[in-house]
Amino acid sequence: MGDIQTDVLIIGTGPAGSATAALLSSYGVANMVVNRYRWLANTPRAHITNQRAMEVLRDLGPEVEAEAMMHASPQEIMGENVFCESLAGEEIGRMKSWGTHPLSKAEHLMSSPCFMNDLPQTFMEPILFKTACARGTQARMSTEYLSHVQDDDGVTTTCRDRLSGKEFTVRSKYLVGADGGNSLVAEHLGLPYEGRMGVGGSMNILFRADLSKYVAHRPSVLYWVMQPGADVGGIGMGLVRMVRPWNEWLIVWGYDINQPPPDVTPEFATGVARQLIGDPDLEIELLGANTWTVNNCFATNLQKGRVFVMGDAAHRHPPSNGLGSNTSIQDGFNLAWKLAMVVKGEAGPGLLDSYTAERAPIARQIVTRANQSIGEFGPIFEALGMDGGVDHDKIRRNMDARADATPAAEAQREALRQAIAFKKYEFDAHGVEMNQRYRSSAAVTDGEPEPAFPADRELHYAPTTWPGARLPHVWVFDRAGRKVSTLDLCGRGAFTLLTGVGGEAWVAAAEAVGAELGLTIRTHVIGPRRPLEDHLGDWARASEVRDGGCVLVRPDHHVAWRSKALAAAPAAELRRVLVSILAR
Ligand SMILES: Cc1cc2nc3c(=O)[nH]c(=O)nc-3n(C[C@H](O)[C@H](O)[C@H](O)COP(=O)(O)OP(=O)(O)OC[C@H]3O[C@@H](n4cnc5c(N)ncnc54)[C@H](O)[C@@H]3O)c2cc1C
Repeated sequence: MGDIQTDVLIIGTGPAGSATAALLSSYGVANMVVNRYRWLANTPRAHITNQRAMEVLRDLGPEVEAEAMMHASPQEIMGENVFCESLAGEEIGRMKSWGTHPLSKAEHLMSSPCFMNDLPQTFMEPILFKTACARGTQARMSTEYLSHVQDDDGVTTTCRDRLSGKEFTVRSKYLVGADGGNSLVAEHLGLPYEGRMGVGGSMNILFRADLSKYVAHRPSVLYWVMQPGADVGGIGMGLVRMVRPWNEWLIVWGYDINQPPPDVTPEFATGVARQLIGDPDLEIELLGANTWTVNNCFATNLQKGRVFVMGDAAHRHPPSNGLGSNTSIQDGFNLAWKLAMVVKGEAGPGLLDSYTAERAPIARQIVTRANQSIGEFGPIFEALGMDGGVDHDKIRRNMDARADATPAAEAQREALRQAIAFKKYEFDAHGVEMNQRYRSSAAVTDGEPEPAFPADRELHYAPTTWPGARLPHVWVFDRAGRKVSTLDLCGRGAFTLLTGVGGEAWVAAAEAVGAELGLTIRTHVIGPRRPLEDHLGDWARASEVRDGGCVLVRPDHHVAWRSKALAAAPAAELRRVLVSILAR
């Protein structure tokens, strides 16, 4: 017995821990979070918030999504992605990014009811944390995780109250390590990792200054400054990132990882800001500075017994593609419903094994993509002649040469255009964000092979109801004519069965099987004169089943199973599938 009892103890109140706590509380599961600091994120690290992460907030409730959107910078002002010599200096090129190119925007609009946006972590964390606490999470700040032991019935975790110095124990059924890139929980579990930590050094310089005159006409969240002299740590580039338009900024600047981290004094920070902005008289209000390391490392197993890791504890990578916080929130969406169903006795503990099976491949994929994106700046440096070291005169000559009226300069310009366009894989990779398809015991095959991706799978989302894929979003209409996303029909901690005209037997089957298994299974019939109408025909196209078939959707919007047509014995089929998924 511990000093405190709860069902799930979560270490960390970052995006992963706070999202998991909010979801568990929404599902009615007792949980507690601890954070070694007295408050949440004090720097606006994560900011690019993708549609899939926003779908998790929407699942928490329209008020949670609305609050996030109220604080976010909207997608429309995110996307010019400028490459320049300095903000005041010459522009080298730019690319439409984050779903703002008209073609990409169409894909975004068709894929989700939610919008990509720029929501700094200093806003996102309080929204998730507040939601968790308001719904029942017990939170202990200034409380440090020290160790844990697990047995057949639960986990006993030792924590220290940092205010009193006193240690206490928490007894829980499950423990979640959402304790970030230096996870002690993961270390204590001895989980296997691939890759390396500390492959590069970076520093953040956070400041206020009104830079409207340099940026408002080409609104973006990221301004990449490529200039001779900006090559600390061999990067040759500095990043000026918008935190709040257009008066709060974060400069990301490299340092040589083989040297000790630099002392970022106010004079140094001001000097870097003036250099990258290109204004020697610029006055900044320095808000803070810190150093961090670029990692290239992911866990290949995310759990041991009753203990799980998620977020940066499981995947450690640079900010490229903006995948960290987004993936951390999605890890929580994957694990929370499983924990809830096991704690409530609706599922056997075997369901929890699907967490590693489903999320470890994502950890590998995003770490690989984020690190690859850094390398893909190479062709831009090459085209500018910046790849040959730090000979500033030579770099200057190469930069100047691109304006010449010579065949060589024309070739250089073409190479530069292509190199910038190729950065779509970092700044507009919708497929990376949305194409997560799971293969595990928690998605039951209907015998169909996985559909191929018709276009580049990193750039373009390919909707399908193939079991394991995220349910495609389309708009259907209720009896009052209001549009409802298919995703809104699902989630909120329960399984959902979608069927059409002639599929009513599935509804009766879901009621019977749900009653037998002690499970809520929501049902929706979509079709003419049914509670939901498919006026646009989009559901008929997206569902990939006949009207009398069905799509069974998990609480995290992923397809659990589907039947192309009405089965001879719908209840028996549904029972077989759910018993298998729930490890009953
Ligand atoms: C410059 C920069 C820009 C970024 N941009 C983006 C972006 O645009 N989009 C994006 O999705 N991601 C981005 N990221 C990544 C993102 O910040 C991380 O992926 C995210 O914070 C990970 O969330 P987490 O909850 O797993 O861990 P963290 O946010 O690191 O939270 C860990 C939590 O655990 C607590 N903790 C740790 N150890 C203990 C202990 N022993 N006891 C008690 N509590 C403990 C901490 O106090 C904290 O509450 C960026 C990162 C950086 C550095």
